[in-house]
Amino acid sequence: MSTLVAASDLARAAYCPRQLYYARRDDDRAPPAAVAGVRALAFEYPDLLDASDDALAARPISVSPATYRQNLARLRERDDWDALTDPVARDELLAGKDCRGVAHKLVRPPDDGDGDGDDDGERPPIPSLVSPGEPPERGVWEPQRVRAVALAKALAWEREASVSRALVEYPAVGVVRTVRLTTGNKAAYRRALRVARNLDFVPSRLRDSAKCESCAYRERCGVKTWSLSSLLGR
Ligand code: SF4
Repeated sequence: MSTLVAASDLARAAYCPRQLYYARRDDDRAPPAAVAGVRALAFEYPDLLDASDDALAARPISVSPATYRQNLARLRERDDWDALTDPVARDELLAGKDCRGVAHKLVRPPDDGDGDGDDDGERPPIPSLVSPGEPPERGVWEPQRVRAVALAKALAWEREASVSRALVEYPAVGVVRTVRLTTGNKAAYRRALRVARNLDFVPSRLRDSAKCESCAYRERCGVKTWSLSSLLGR
């Protein structure tokens, strides 16, 4: 039986195979210390919705207190608000056929949208990945999309049930996005899985990619970032 690939490795593979190579070589897996403080916000939405400006300013949010409360007020309109604020499990390690990873929450969806009439008790939960960062304008970033699909597939494997979506939460801004297991999203997952499984060489650097700007390995990788390039009068 092949070794299970870490879902976080899939995210790195989707971001840049060379980054995954460095992370594996250096066994560099632990998230930065600041991540825990942001993730904690995802378990306090109702309190944060009513928090004062001063109380919010003391937390690791990336928008103004007023915008944060507005975002949470919008989040409260989602039909899964109750599930998001009262998860059935927290930091659940999932192991599927190909991948393993931690779902920061398992939430019981109010309706899985398949029209089969299951009641809530029978319906499997869906996994939620809590990101310490900010979301793109629409949807979720590709590495998180792949990681969310990996968690949904691992949960489906464990429960022997269909899991058709996952969530990605961005508590630093108070936004939650849904990732459905569409054909395109599953194909992205399979691509990343192939990269992560077959990484027995040093992959090429990305060419002229904005991704390198925020990559922790850019110095040892030796890429010239755009800002450095412009400083040098590129
Ligand atoms: S600096 Fe760029 S090419 Fe190098 S590992 Fe990071 S993302 Fe990949």
